[in-house]
Amino acid sequence: MKGIWNFSAGPAVLPRSVLREAAAEMENYRGWGMSVMEMSHRSEAFGEIIGQAEQDLRALMHIPQNYHVLFLQGGATGQFAAVPMNFMKNRRADYIITGFWSERAYTQAQRYGDVRVVATSADRDHSYIPDCTDLPISRQADYVYICENDTAHGTQFFHLPETKGKPLVADLSSCLLSAPVETEKYAMLFAGTQKNAGIAGLTIAVVREDMMENGGLPETPGTMQYQNIAKNRSMFQTPPTYPIYICGKVLQWIRRQGGLEEMKRQNRKKAALLYDYLDESRLFHPLVEPPYRSMVNVTFTTGVPQTNTQLASLAEKEGFIGLKGHRAVGGLRASLYNAMPYEGVERLVDLLHRFEKSSV
Ligand code: PMP
Repeated sequence: MKGIWNFSAGPAVLPRSVLREAAAEMENYRGWGMSVMEMSHRSEAFGEIIGQAEQDLRALMHIPQNYHVLFLQGGATGQFAAVPMNFMKNRRADYIITGFWSERAYTQAQRYGDVRVVATSADRDHSYIPDCTDLPISRQADYVYICENDTAHGTQFFHLPETKGKPLVADLSSCLLSAPVETEKYAMLFAGTQKNAGIAGLTIAVVREDMMENGGLPETPGTMQYQNIAKNRSMFQTPPTYPIYICGKVLQWIRRQGGLEEMKRQNRKKAALLYDYLDESRLFHPLVEPPYRSMVNVTFTTGVPQTNTQLASLAEKEGFIGLKGHRAVGGLRASLYNAMPYEGVERLVDLLHRFEKSSV
């Protein structure tokens, strides 16, 4: 098989060992005589899989006892509606807009109540994170919302906003498990698993118990009501069993690597290698201001759309996949999730360097 380097934003590269284990267990999972895909979600074998996945996630993220871990369907996009439905007691929420994904969440939330933008980076094309130390938080706000790492624009919060006592809700889709997290600072966090935590079809939510006490807006469907899902231990409906199984394997892999501190060390090193090159390059330029640059989604451009396209197609020919920027942002993007080895980034820098030399 021709080797490739997969820099896609998600679905994304998985650890090779996870794929090999899944392949070996495909037809006969640990002597049960069938694939995990064929098992009842209420079987003993699957009970162990989901139980272990929750335990590993709790251990890695130091999730306190008063938080529930929910395994959900509907993607992170589903949570853009589920969050207001579950939490908007006063039908008021404050959103911080730092790119494509918080804008999307904001648009959805507007269907359920009075939603205010308390900070935005739209004035400079979402190339930075606004100062969030003294925001005009609404007195009746049910929560304050952020997208912690904008996968499309390539910005990341390295300091959480000061919410003046209001619950913080965060979309961690692209940075979950990429570094240690202070879970107790969030009232709720969620992430689709198809980037750093597995494959598409599963969304993980970590919700503080007091947030789900009132069951949410009356129109909230049972499949989206966190209280109901928690009560049923993520089995109110059939959960996405195979994505949970793969996520479990990724969590075990991260634990074997040394946990989230080690992920952060590796991710920092990879990101630094690429950003250092881009900062020195005469052809390529990073799109984000230095203090706010994502460790996992590196966005950059030559400034000329045709040249970006030329690079992306040359890259593809050489086996570098997924370097085209998000459709709403343009330019180029390299996603450096946990499973991307340092060598992949070295090879990418070499490719960019060769392209630069041949075009200036
Ligand atoms: N939030 C962020 C930060 C994302 O990157 C994405 C997907 N790229 C989403 C939400 C939407 O996820 P999904 O397509 O799984 O609903």
